[in-house]
Amino acid sequence: MAIIVKSSSLHGAGVYTTAPIKKGAHILEYTGPRLTAKACEGMYADTEVTYLFAMDDGDTIIDGFGMAAFVNHTCDPNCETDQIDNRIWIMALRDIGAGEELTYDYNLFDGDIDEKAPCYCGLRNCRRTMFSEEEVARQKKALRRRKKRREAARLRREKEKRAARKR
Ligand SMILES: [Zn+2]
Repeated sequence: MAIIVKSSSLHGAGVYTTAPIKKGAHILEYTGPRLTAKACEGMYADTEVTYLFAMDDGDTIIDGFGMAAFVNHTCDPNCETDQIDNRIWIMALRDIGAGEELTYDYNLFDGDIDEKAPCYCGLRNCRRTMFSEEEVARQKKALRRRKKRREAARLRREKEKRAARKR
């Protein structure tokens, strides 16, 4: 298949096809060293760009090395990823024309609520983040819980102050 990496209008470098691709085709394998989630922790704390891919078992992370790692995210992608026999494939979600940039939805998860993963794909249904919808809901909930905890702590402090004044 005629797959190339070149600068992308979406972000940094992107992956393009110079020939049409049929829906369902296995285009690229997501390759790289495999690490455990624990081993990965903090490894890239100071780097903005990482190419980590979490496998279905939730504990194996592929530290992307190779073309597939350069495939960008959009909220309306022409590819998807699928795990087949312990390998990750980037597959065509629809027929793709020559010259198109390949993209898939990163559906990031397990994010820190202070971490931002903004999406600038600019497509009509852009959800403005690369986090999955489930993850966005989870983070909103965590944020609400944190707010509640802070509010409760504030009320407690006020009460203590009032009690101290009475004494
Ligand atoms: Zn988007």
